[in-house]
Amino acid sequence: MNHFEMKEGELHAEDVAIRRIAAAVGTPVYIYSAATLRRHYTVLRDAFAVHPELGTPLIAYAVKANSNVEVLRVLSGLGAGADTVSEGEIRRALAAGVAPGRIVFSGVGKTRCEITFALKTGVAEINVESAAELDAVASVARELNLIAPVAFRVNPDVEAGGHVKISTGKAENKFGVSFAQAHELYAAATKDPHLRPVGVACHIGSQITDLAPLRAAFIKMRAFVESLRAEGLSVERLDLGGGLGVPYFNQPDPPSPADYAAMIAEVIGGLNIQLAFEPGRMIAANAGVLISDVIHVNVRPEGRSFLVLDAAMNDLIRPAMYDAYHDIRPVVPRGGAHRTYDVVGPVCETGDTFARERDLAPLETGDLVAFMTAGAYGAAMASEYNTRPLIPEVLVDGARFAVIRERPTYDEILGRDRLGGWQT
Ligand SMILES: *Cc1c(COP(=O)(O)O)cnc(C)c1O
Repeated sequence: MNHFEMKEGELHAEDVAIRRIAAAVGTPVYIYSAATLRRHYTVLRDAFAVHPELGTPLIAYAVKANSNVEVLRVLSGLGAGADTVSEGEIRRALAAGVAPGRIVFSGVGKTRCEITFALKTGVAEINVESAAELDAVASVARELNLIAPVAFRVNPDVEAGGHVKISTGKAENKFGVSFAQAHELYAAATKDPHLRPVGVACHIGSQITDLAPLRAAFIKMRAFVESLRAEGLSVERLDLGGGLGVPYFNQPDPPSPADYAAMIAEVIGGLNIQLAFEPGRMIAANAGVLISDVIHVNVRPEGRSFLVLDAAMNDLIRPAMYDAYHDIRPVVPRGGAHRTYDVVGPVCETGDTFARERDLAPLETGDLVAFMTAGAYGAAMASEYNTRPLIPEVLVDGARFAVIRERPTYDEILGRDRLGGWQT
């Protein structure tokens, strides 16, 4: 469910015609809907509220999906916490008003600098992913004379489905530790005066469209919590990660938040533990579109038609990187028979192809198209490859809209380069 709909023959973001934003801000541009962000967060929160035995979970929005501070502010205003994977993301969460006690610091390669920053900030927990990292956290905490709240990210060794590049829960992936090792580390951490083990965590992958692998992982996590507690270890929090998929139109419909919560209530109910979740995509994906202009339609004599857009793989890398499918819609559809297009960007790589042989209403130079479901892992993964400026982001809220990240000028881009000093 999202608030990008056709009204009076043209695509709107809530109450604002997308054509109006494109005229004011230029293209390509990302447009987000505040109402959709709010809706996705509250639907998830309310799905858990139906099961009082689950308590009130910490919903820590995974900042990496869409890290714009104003987007984060929409969510933090509703009480969302933040799951972060870098000092930069912690800084973004703080800038958006997320309380340190609602920030989770995840990731396989936290530097000592970042650990220092997280501990000084007072984050809720550092999710530790290896023995080496536990040593680093303990040593930084000792130096700072602080007590580090740590949770152990376990790799539950389940196959999550989805794309290999975003599947994280198999033993051969780089993420987390085995149950046996987590057990040892947990016990060891309780003996270190500068560590406070608060819980265990898992995250088995992204764009998961079937509850079965999640259920399998959560059953293992419950048993693990019980085995730690059986030894007298205190386990306060169980972080079940993110990963629930969203409909990109060519995939099976993902489970609803209600089904997800019901499964969790069934598996975890009665464990008497604080739950945490780290949803990213399911909050942000359908809350954003990428709007692009048709530069030209290149019709080859032998028949193939290329729709050449002003957006490229550097603006939205998901199709090139994950073979991802995005629904593409004309913003102001023309009548007439549909045609088949290869939809491409201007970057000199064959990978800069958004869609092959896509059936679309006819398009002409200067028309606008919308890539749907582009609010997660879109702008956040963008680069300036080909010296294409990072594209602006716009937030719509009802009848209002504002630029929430500006397009940099060429002077700003070139101004970051420096002379080495020895070339004449
Ligand atoms: C990426 C990530 C998430 C968010 O995943 P989604 O599929 O966007 O929900 C949550 N937790 C961790 C540790 C992650 O790396």
